[in-house]
Amino acid sequence: MSINKRSFLLRLMISIGLLLLLLLTAPYLNAQDNGRLNHAGFLVVDPPSEPPNPPPFSLPFASPPGPDTWLLGQPYGNTTGAYRQRYIFYQAGQGLHFGLDFSAPCGTEIIAIGAGIVSEVDGPHGSGPHNLVIDHPNGYSSLYGHLLNRANLTPGQTVEQGQVIALSGDSFGTCRSAPHLHLEIRNNYHHRAYNPILLIQADWDSLALVGSFGRGFERDLTDPRRWQSLTDQPDVIFGGPLLNEYEQPWPPDEGGR
Ligand SMILES: [Zn+2]
Repeated sequence: MSINKRSFLLRLMISIGLLLLLLLTAPYLNAQDNGRLNHAGFLVVDPPSEPPNPPPFSLPFASPPGPDTWLLGQPYGNTTGAYRQRYIFYQAGQGLHFGLDFSAPCGTEIIAIGAGIVSEVDGPHGSGPHNLVIDHPNGYSSLYGHLLNRANLTPGQTVEQGQVIALSGDSFGTCRSAPHLHLEIRNNYHHRAYNPILLIQADWDSLALVGSFGRGFERDLTDPRRWQSLTDQPDVIFGGPLLNEYEQPWPPDEGGR
């Protein structure tokens, strides 16, 4: 075999080897580059399949609850309030209240429920006039809605648990109509919402005693015990079908608003 022929064969083998290597690793390269980023462009991880014990997050306020500070206004899930408005505000969330509402005077300081990176400032997830999303490394993201002004943070910035990140506002923007914080816990992809009561360490049974609105849960009389407690509520897939289009609802459907 001539030297030329040998070097040709050698180059051919190296080329085939490189091609095979590329073909074998391409799916993984692709997954790392594209499949693991959310729409905001940040790396994501999957949250655990069950809520961790103890719950990983803390309340979004440094102050204790009370009539002058904050109170739990509406829990997560199949609330009567979300049911009545299932064709408007809550349609995208399968007819459920996909977060927690905390009544609080405008300007109440809100703190990060866990450490993470700022993912979105006034992003596309509604809950106006201003909102903020933080991606946490355990696979969850927290969304703070109805904020008073644009949060003074930039996407990519890290925040610590307990750091003041925003001021609470009003969903109608008046500070008299409905001043409250809407808090959601989603996955890092921001398209699935979880019951924050299972993920935030707090005395929820006591907090639920003194709420101001929407405390009851809508009942399906064909399955009357389903989704009737603070902790027994389904996850929400944004854009999925309504979960509470009941044949025999209680309280009765008043035609919707
Ligand atoms: Zn809300």
